[in-house]
Amino acid sequence: MTDTSMEEDLKQAISHNAFQINWMPVLETATEHVVAFEALVRWNRPGVGNIVPDIFLKLAEKLTLIENIDRWVLHYTCQAAQNWEKPLGLSVNISPSWLETERVSKTIESALLASGLAPSRLQIEFSEQGNFGPSDLSRKELSRIRALGVKLVLDDFGTGSQALERLIDLPFTQIKLDRKLIHRIGKDSRVDTVVRCLLHLAHSLDMTCCAEGVETEEQLGFLDAHGCEEIQGFLIGRPAIAMPFDRPSNT
Ligand code: C2E
Ligand code: MG
Ligand code: MG
Repeated sequence: MTDTSMEEDLKQAISHNAFQINWMPVLETATEHVVAFEALVRWNRPGVGNIVPDIFLKLAEKLTLIENIDRWVLHYTCQAAQNWEKPLGLSVNISPSWLETERVSKTIESALLASGLAPSRLQIEFSEQGNFGPSDLSRKELSRIRALGVKLVLDDFGTGSQALERLIDLPFTQIKLDRKLIHRIGKDSRVDTVVRCLLHLAHSLDMTCCAEGVETEEQLGFLDAHGCEEIQGFLIGRPAIAMPFDRPSNT
């Protein structure tokens, strides 16, 4: 059953840009420094409370309104990052479902121009689980984004059905390993082998790797030992309004 009142509330929220951003730190494994923040959108539905992003973002996709949310997030976060005390990287998630409109690259360009943010500080994450539309259009559009000097991440790697095809055909600069895989590190030697091989695969294609969902020092140690450049997860920091610019001490 469709929750029509939720649809109406979401349309209202979109027309008023009534969203918030939570920030999640990205740690450079070699230096243990926070090098970037990922922006994660939040919606506090009036009278109900926070709605899980996966739910309201899927609804926005169904209503073909996801572009509006992504546009707002891009403009808002580029401006915010331009005002940070340190020139760290900014990672923004965009739904691949509107790549085929060929408006994504223009939107990114206008957010960069309006904010003055250096393109080299921005990276865009596209979830591998999403629908990338016709392959010729997605390839062209992603190439335009790369031409702006912006980095491209294939998010949730290992969860979709076309992971290798996308890796081969599209101009991504980083693979983000999905947390379902990371959670099994150290528990199953076959998972350890797959993660090692994925890191080797990424590096052989001149791409970097980020592991998401890192919750233990053991997982961090394994990933560091096998050359995973970046780490994200509750071990480093949870999504929050506040921005811890340094890794919280675990002593
Ligand atoms: P994602 O980009 O893969 O973001 C990571 C998700 O995993 C976040 O969930 C985060 O809270 C969670 N997570 C990170 N580390 C850990 C960990 O160590 N343990 C556990 N249990 N969970 C962890 P969240 O915030 O619910 O976001 C869900 C998804 O919503 C994101 O997945 C992303 O695909 C999408 N999303 C978020 N913001 C936007 C946006 O502005 N636009 C679009 N199109 N999608 C967005
Ligand atoms: Mg992401
Ligand atoms: Mg992910």
